[in-house]
Amino acid sequence: MAVTAQRIIVIGAGPAGTRAAARLVEAGLRPIVIDEGERQGGQIYRRQPPHFTRPPEKLYGSEAPKAVALHRDFEALREKIDYRPNTLAWGAKPGMLMTVTGDEAREVPYDALIIASGATDRVMPMPGWTVPGVYTLGAAQIALKAQACAIGAAPIFTGTGPLLYLVAWQYMKAGVKVRAVLDTSPFSLRLKALRYLAARPEVLRHGMGYTADLKRAGVQMANGITPLEVMAHDGRVAGLRWRDAAGREQSTEGDAVGFGYGLRSETQIADLLKCDFAFDSIAKQWLPVVDSDGRSSKKGVYLAGDGAMVRGADAAEMAGRLAACAALLDMGLSIPAAEIEKLRAQLAPMGKFRQGLEMAFPWPGHQAASLPDSTIICRCEKVTAGDIRHAAKDLDTPEVNRTKQLVRPGMGRCQGRMCGLAAAEVLAAARGVPAEQVGRLRGAAPIKPLPIGARLVESA
Ligand SMILES: Cc1cc2nc3c(=O)[nH]c(=O)nc-3n(C[C@H](O)[C@H](O)[C@H](O)COP(=O)(O)OP(=O)(O)OC[C@H]3O[C@@H](n4cnc5c(N)ncnc54)[C@H](O)[C@@H]3O)c2cc1C
Repeated sequence: MAVTAQRIIVIGAGPAGTRAAARLVEAGLRPIVIDEGERQGGQIYRRQPPHFTRPPEKLYGSEAPKAVALHRDFEALREKIDYRPNTLAWGAKPGMLMTVTGDEAREVPYDALIIASGATDRVMPMPGWTVPGVYTLGAAQIALKAQACAIGAAPIFTGTGPLLYLVAWQYMKAGVKVRAVLDTSPFSLRLKALRYLAARPEVLRHGMGYTADLKRAGVQMANGITPLEVMAHDGRVAGLRWRDAAGREQSTEGDAVGFGYGLRSETQIADLLKCDFAFDSIAKQWLPVVDSDGRSSKKGVYLAGDGAMVRGADAAEMAGRLAACAALLDMGLSIPAAEIEKLRAQLAPMGKFRQGLEMAFPWPGHQAASLPDSTIICRCEKVTAGDIRHAAKDLDTPEVNRTKQLVRPGMGRCQGRMCGLAAAEVLAAARGVPAEQVGRLRGAAPIKPLPIGARLVESA
């Protein structure tokens, strides 16, 4: 088989996709690299618009050297790959990817597909979360990183996970008066997770540093809280009502809320290709089944980076390279065994650290049971917790896709990417079963909205 005749597509030009593409180029291939973003870099190493001039140290902090290296290496690849920015992969069937660039839709055949599509914020709704001025933590960071804008002059950050502290710290460093950092996870869990978190001492040290800086600056901090409601005045955020660890009700005034509970992998393309999925009891999510090197259950389909399992940017770079090695090996190319062994060994502590993060900052699935019936779960279709409970009890619906058919959570433009996990938790709580028993929302094409004027142009 002539390897050069192989057509490989990489979805995503973040850390995983960039390193996968680089390894394919090293092997003499010219992969197609598709990214819906305007500029390469992915989430953590997101680039600012061309006319913005903030230095890397300001944008990426301690990660600036890695960001600069990833951007530089990608620029060096540009002539050797078929790079398609502003291009969304919206559908897939075996051997064929559907993309759209502007209003030009294409069907792009492939022999091997490396999906490096990253993750998004994991959301547990609360009353008032659809009020203008409420953002996910990731969105709050994107506003700051890409646009040099703050979500408010006095924001409150809540939820849990490393991004909670990082984003609050980044806002504080940018000169914003952060009102509070309110973590749903009790501090004791962090101590329990310490032996896992110690697998990456440098990252642990940075995380502890952010917390210490916030405390020193007098930002209100609390652990083990339960968010009760985003308070609103004149249709805008006025603050947050919450319950502290001792069960007392509190309220904090502020003009914006950033919230989130870690990340969820973007897995819809693997889903459309009918890859096997399994419930991951650590992340409490359904994830595509992959082997140690990123091979999915479908021949020629590989996953790397946060889109396979959230392990962070350093792991994403290694996993991208490893998935490319797996694809090359499967094409019949010889790859040095030492290279693969080294990458697998480098990834091992990342897995342990990830376990520590999930232990320290758990997804608060239990909150779903106590959300008032009126809480909006699916904001695209305005489906409330009460609607889902009605499906669970009155319509005797045991499964989340059936619930979608009957009361429409996940039926709207986000296709359940934002609400799917919470909808499953509300359903599971109403049925009195664990979340994995109600299944997961199946992906459907188009996985994200298409321009209404999109037309199929000549393919490839
Ligand atoms: C909002 C957000 C902020 C984060 N901030 C930090 C941080 O400050 N520090 C930190 O350590 N970690 C952060 N993380 C986590 C970190 O970004 C990831 O661990 C790392 O970027 C993973 O790299 P990746 O290549 O797997 O995915 P990403 O960097 O997410 O790259 C995925 C790429 O795929 C593209 N893509 C996805 N789906 C499609 C599609 N269907 N069609 C075309 N293109 C597609 C996206 O545009 C993106 O460029 C953040 C994550 C998120 C979601």
